[in-house]
Amino acid sequence: MHSDPYAWLDRSLETLHKAGWYRSTKTVTGKPGTRICVDGQALLNFASNDYLGLAGDDRLIAAAVAATQAYGTGTTGSRLITGHRDLHRQLERAIAALKQTEDAIVFSSGYAANLGTIAALMGQRDLILSDQYNHSSLRSGALVSGARLLEYRHGDLAEVRSRLVAERANFPRCLILTDSVFSMDGDLAPLPELLDLAEEFSCMVLVDEAHGTGVMGQSGAGCVEHFGCTGRSLIQMGTLSKALGSLGGYVAGSAKLVDFLRNRAPSWIYTTGLTAADTAAALAALEIVKTEPDRRDRLWANVAYLKTQLERLSHQNETFRLLPSDSPIVCLGLADVATAMQMGQALQTNGIFAPAIRPPTVPTSRIRMTVMATHSVSDIDQLVDAIQRSIAAIERCR
Ligand SMILES: *Cc1c(COP(=O)(O)O)cnc(C)c1O
Repeated sequence: MHSDPYAWLDRSLETLHKAGWYRSTKTVTGKPGTRICVDGQALLNFASNDYLGLAGDDRLIAAAVAATQAYGTGTTGSRLITGHRDLHRQLERAIAALKQTEDAIVFSSGYAANLGTIAALMGQRDLILSDQYNHSSLRSGALVSGARLLEYRHGDLAEVRSRLVAERANFPRCLILTDSVFSMDGDLAPLPELLDLAEEFSCMVLVDEAHGTGVMGQSGAGCVEHFGCTGRSLIQMGTLSKALGSLGGYVAGSAKLVDFLRNRAPSWIYTTGLTAADTAAALAALEIVKTEPDRRDRLWANVAYLKTQLERLSHQNETFRLLPSDSPIVCLGLADVATAMQMGQALQTNGIFAPAIRPPTVPTSRIRMTVMATHSVSDIDQLVDAIQRSIAAIERCR
């Protein structure tokens, strides 16, 4: 009767080790940027979500410091009690302006935004259709809501349609969930077609622009802008923590949607307001997104250059396959976990940080690289050179 109720943790961890699924943190020192120091080793960084290079930008840092001096560190309460500041409202207005929506609401993280929004909108009698490669937070939101969850094959519009034909009439409300830029592959959701289907079958759509905001579209508004879908009725969410270089999440949409979320989203109501530092940094980032479109131009020029080099390499090797991508997320598909781990290690030996991503995070093992606006051509040349050397090393060992 006195057995240790926590003993199963040892067995569970052991299983993770045996499967090669065990994870641990790496310590990064210094400011974010194209060069980082990981566990004491200086590396060229191709693993960051900081697409525009803003997380270490002096203007964001100055904004965060000034806001901290003016408002203090913590917001001391939830937004509805003592945690609301004029800065939050300014940020929400700035997000709505970028997205060209009536309003927006800021959460403490993108994860919390998805969790709270989906849980608020959907209940046990409702239906959710979700792309199988969607981010974990969309899936968690769907599970928390208690709605019937159907996952469709990645980007498969025919399956979405057939599911809607078969199931839509049995549920009062239906919500389609999709990433706009898929975070582990870098390809895009067929957004216009999904919105057409949603209209035809009277479904709501929530699109996760975590990797789209600041990156996609003429003004950096995201994939909604990229696909010419601005103004269509949908729910746009995203994060302040990727291209915007800060921390927090948001939902942008109609005024009534935002009003409803302020009243019903538990992960907004029952959590402390975003710190002044994070809020001010995100505001500064949005200003840069608006006034420095050349950052996006540089990012896309870098992406095009890297892809050209990798396409050339992909015809000369048996080790990797260049996975399809329409974003700054570029992946080398590899045969198995062992090859991916070897490749990640070899890249690191050659001065590059671009980690192996493996199951269960993704179905197939890969090296995932992200390009930044602040990478130079010679940084990318160095990456391509390191990939070449790593492949040669792996092929020698076969
Ligand atoms: C990173 C990410 C999130 C979560 O955002 P956080 O602000 O980091 O919590 C949600 N969705 C997608 C697709 C993401 O990549």
